[in-house]
Amino acid sequence: MATEKMEFQTEVRDMLNLMINSLYSNKEIFLRELVSNAADALDKRRFLSLSNADLLPMGTQLRIDISVNKEGKRIVVEDNGIGMNKEDLINCLGTIARSGTKNFIKNLKEGDKGSVDLIGQFGVGFYSVFMVAKKVEVLTLKAGEKQGYLWASEGTGDFEISEAPLDKVGTKITLYLKDDEDAEDFASEWKIKDIVQKYSGFVSYGIYFHPEATKNDKGELEEKPEERLNEKQALWRQSEKEVTEEQYKDFYNVISHEADEPAAWSHSHAEGSQEFWSLVYIPSKAPFNIWHNDALHGLKLYVKKVFIMDDCKDLLPPWLRFVRGVVDSEDLPLNVSREILQNNKIITNIRKHVIKKVLDSLQNMADKDAAKYNAWWRELGMVLKEGFYMNWEHLDELKKL
Ligand code: ADP
Ligand code: MG
Repeated sequence: MATEKMEFQTEVRDMLNLMINSLYSNKEIFLRELVSNAADALDKRRFLSLSNADLLPMGTQLRIDISVNKEGKRIVVEDNGIGMNKEDLINCLGTIARSGTKNFIKNLKEGDKGSVDLIGQFGVGFYSVFMVAKKVEVLTLKAGEKQGYLWASEGTGDFEISEAPLDKVGTKITLYLKDDEDAEDFASEWKIKDIVQKYSGFVSYGIYFHPEATKNDKGELEEKPEERLNEKQALWRQSEKEVTEEQYKDFYNVISHEADEPAAWSHSHAEGSQEFWSLVYIPSKAPFNIWHNDALHGLKLYVKKVFIMDDCKDLLPPWLRFVRGVVDSEDLPLNVSREILQNNKIITNIRKHVIKKVLDSLQNMADKDAAKYNAWWRELGMVLKEGFYMNWEHLDELKKL
């Protein structure tokens, strides 16, 4: 097969145009998108191999590998997930099938808001790479197939596909960074590690960074060992029985940046029409800035183990702003934004759940250990009292407390 040139769907072209000229400042999300696509592809391969063992030879470690080449201004993200055949490449990386992206385009066309905001609001999956890359190559071999392919594009009108001799199942994506400072910045070891740890620290598969070989005193190239970037377990996804008290306390110290012990915590997993995990902590001392207007609001929001934001205000009322913890939704899209979260049904539901868990934990503490509760009340009772003046819903519980 010779190289075939194909045109992007019109909507894709509109969007790519926007990506290429993007002024959106949070460009680092491209890596979050690539890593979560890789994790999705690994999930798919693992899942399909349950009914067809040939798709995953014994002993294969499903993983994600990342490297940068500073000189050449390249970033490579590789996975040994399901991979793509020619049809997949055309359908997935040439057209727009995702509803989120369709909405994005629709809003773009209505154009009442700045398109810069919209990138953040909808996110744009794979295409976000063109915020930082002038050219992208995708080398891929689908599990169970023999022929590999190379997809390449500069993000303008068209893309190319050619056959490529590959024997390793999976996908390798190479970004050739743009020549501007913004983009070049990403060809840096610490920056890449930093972004991966920020957004993808709890992804289920190992993410490995391969440092560039450096020259030693004798001028020889010296290979360096790979480093795993995501050691941390998503504690909140484990069942309560598996987690020790010590682990709960340690995790509190990690996410709250406090050194003391929490007064109480509540860990739960909701299944049914919606699935989410929550692990919320009640601190024993008032966080130092609790009376400031810009006091942090506490909960971190994850979607499918991928970090979305700190300080998610929509998950807690202001009178519970001392609560710390994590909420992880299986149902929200990865590309939610603060705007979308307001009045979102899923969030409203989780918020109700979280409020109940916090109030129950406090009541439980008061019932079991009055002295501890009184000490807690002296620290944070004033904040809880605000709840009286700010809502009608929980007056009964609050009165008791
Ligand atoms: P989404 O992840 O929401 O589907 P993306 O734009 O991020 O949208 O990706 C589009 C599609 O391209 C994916 O649904 C998937 O089918 C395919 N894809 C992207 N990256 C990979 C990969 N690393 N391995 C296999 N398929 C991929
Ligand atoms: Mg994606």
